Amino acid sequence: MDCCARMHREPDHVKNFILGFVKRVGFVNDQNMLSIEGRFGPQNFELILRTYINEYVRCNECDGFDTILPMENGSFTLRCQQCGSERSVADCCNI
Ligand SMILES: [Zn+2]
Repeated sequence: MDCCARMHREPDHVKNFILGFVKRVGFVNDQNMLSIEGRFGPQNFELILRTYINEYVRCNECDGFDTILPMENGSFTLRCQQCGSERSVADCCNI
């Protein structure tokens, strides 16, 4: 949840991405942490988060992380608050 707040992303979006990525079942426990069935090393998790950030947080133009991800016309658009560039991103559930 801390990660989500830092990235300005909905925890559900991050959760769906991670669970889709690892193709496992998981849930958010009462400590607001994501529990995933099976074993994952920290390296794996870092790789997944990095993939998420590259796809859904980082601006391709200026490498900034000050971006928002509004849903427009049924798809997500990544919009950079620094340079104003936009790109469409894949729906996280289709990965
Ligand atoms: Zn930018």
